[in-house]
Amino acid sequence: MAELINGKEIAGQIRDEVKGTVAALSVRGIRVTLAVVLVGEDPASQVYVRNKEKACEYCGIVSRRITLPEQTPQEELLKVVKDLNEDPSVNGILVQLPLPRHLDADEVIRAISPLKDVDGFHPQSVGALSIGLPGFTSCTPAGIIELLHRSGIKTDGRECVIVGRSNIVGKPMGMLMLRENATVTIAHSHTKNLQEVTRRADILITAIGKPKFFTRDYVKEGACVIDCGMDRDENGKLCGDVDFADAEPVAGAITPVPGGVGPMTVAMLMKNCVDSIVLQRS
Ligand code: NAP
Repeated sequence: MAELINGKEIAGQIRDEVKGTVAALSVRGIRVTLAVVLVGEDPASQVYVRNKEKACEYCGIVSRRITLPEQTPQEELLKVVKDLNEDPSVNGILVQLPLPRHLDADEVIRAISPLKDVDGFHPQSVGALSIGLPGFTSCTPAGIIELLHRSGIKTDGRECVIVGRSNIVGKPMGMLMLRENATVTIAHSHTKNLQEVTRRADILITAIGKPKFFTRDYVKEGACVIDCGMDRDENGKLCGDVDFADAEPVAGAITPVPGGVGPMTVAMLMKNCVDSIVLQRS
């Protein structure tokens, strides 16, 4: 049986560590504030924002929600971001994605100060990650590194295959695993003989958004399998990109869905908020 990597528990540890740091900062008169901009009334976005606010509350981070109507023009949203950039009481800025279709998300992300870019999506944050300079890292891949470290999974010199090359998961994941001295392959929808590629992996990280796609045929005996997928199965139940029941007996360690990578994303957002204090004061 594979070792189960418990993301819920590890995310809890990180939230508690953040809570401790926030309390220590507060003794020195420093408050940590996250501003969350929500445009429109997308129900899923509202749930995500509420979860982030709950995590802030637990950690002692002040959360400030700015709600804008669905029809907000681009210029108005850019002005809101600019004001938050210039507000010294705000440490982190997050614009909840996706934005309504008439808005240009890339331009909005570029407008966020890289010193407050706690999502790690700004081109400067991405560039800093790739050349090893200080900056924010996208929360989901940063959370996976924490999962590996805290579960004692060795990365140095090992074969890591990441499937998926999105800007928020696959690509930054590749950079982080390089930093961990793994030998990295990033596969995608054009990759030939995917099974052959993934079966080379000591660490297989899946981020494609296809429910239960990766069966045991994709997994090397004893591999560590990290499943980023947040998908729905044929009954509408939350599941991952990995067919857990089929792949688990072959894997050496595996993350479940739910309770694996998912809880790490918000925990790492909280960590980025406290790290913003250091970045802004250095
Ligand atoms: P995305 O932007 O849709 O990218 C999907 C990637 O998978 C693309 O690079 C695509 O290749 C590749 N792909 C799709 N089908 C493939 C196939 N059959 N074989 C090989 N590669 C394939 O997805 P994302 O935003 O990275 O999200 C991926 C998954 O992670 C989703 O389930 C999402 O819900 C989940 N997610 C979870 C969290 C969390 O907090 N846990 C955070 C973010 C994302 P091409 O580039 O060639 O099209």
